[in-house]
Amino acid sequence: MGFERVACNGCGSSAHRHLFDIQESPDERQPPAWRGNASIPVVRCERCGLVFLNPRYDEERIVALYQDPQMFVGTIDPEGRSRSIMAERAMRVARFADDVKALHRRRSGGRLLDIGCGLGFFLEALGSRYDAVGLEWSAPVVEMTRALPFTIVEHRFPHHPFKAGEFDVVTFHNVLDHLPDPLGALRTAHDLLRPGGLLMLTGVNFGGVVARVYGSRFRLLSPNHLYYFDPQSLKHYADRTGFRLLGLEYPYFRSDVADPLRHGARIIADWWRLRSGRAPQVAPSPPFYGNVMRAFAVRAN
Ligand SMILES: [Zn+2]
Repeated sequence: MGFERVACNGCGSSAHRHLFDIQESPDERQPPAWRGNASIPVVRCERCGLVFLNPRYDEERIVALYQDPQMFVGTIDPEGRSRSIMAERAMRVARFADDVKALHRRRSGGRLLDIGCGLGFFLEALGSRYDAVGLEWSAPVVEMTRALPFTIVEHRFPHHPFKAGEFDVVTFHNVLDHLPDPLGALRTAHDLLRPGGLLMLTGVNFGGVVARVYGSRFRLLSPNHLYYFDPQSLKHYADRTGFRLLGLEYPYFRSDVADPLRHGARIIADWWRLRSGRAPQVAPSPPFYGNVMRAFAVRAN
């Protein structure tokens, strides 16, 4: 109960190879919709190489997850620490500073839509240089943002109230891999952009060295990350939906978590443990270059 089996979103194939399982968290401190004891298989499509969860949370479970106000005020991270996204506002806004700089180098203004804007951290980091609006479908989240000085519209993408070609920039920050139909989402983003408009994506990279070394111990695996893109599958998605990929960046060295010597030493030590079959002794992977990626693409036609 709570799970559904799906065909590949990228190519429709039902031939998938099992990579490993990820575990739900049984921790009592988790919001109820997050809690569970299930093993969720991570699979790779035999035809196009897309990596995704299958079977994955069904519609009912996804709704319960995102409509739960506790998800944003208190969850447990992979190290078992209690975290509140709300309480980390200043840090999370600051973490977008490098993304805003990268965007500004390509488009210095214009009408911008941030899809799945959550509590508006990216909108806040943007400042006043863009005519920006956010789209968010979690009702408790939209409620929490009411007092903030930016516009957030409540809709569940790909549903939206906007006109075709209305935007100069469309952004998805850590959102595409949460959506049940990312291919459909990019098609809708294409329609929302004017010709030549810019698409910006940030998210987990499953093709990085840490994801490859750690497998099921990769820290960015989560039951609500339904898809795990890498540079190849992301380019495939851009090509299929009318975008031309301009480039990929891996913004680790400029981030506040960068500690390459310490992280690198740990990865080498863990690599040895994982190779000798001692995965249960290995803590979730550290941050590192290549764990997350940032992509820019233009609407090509
Ligand atoms: Zn496929």
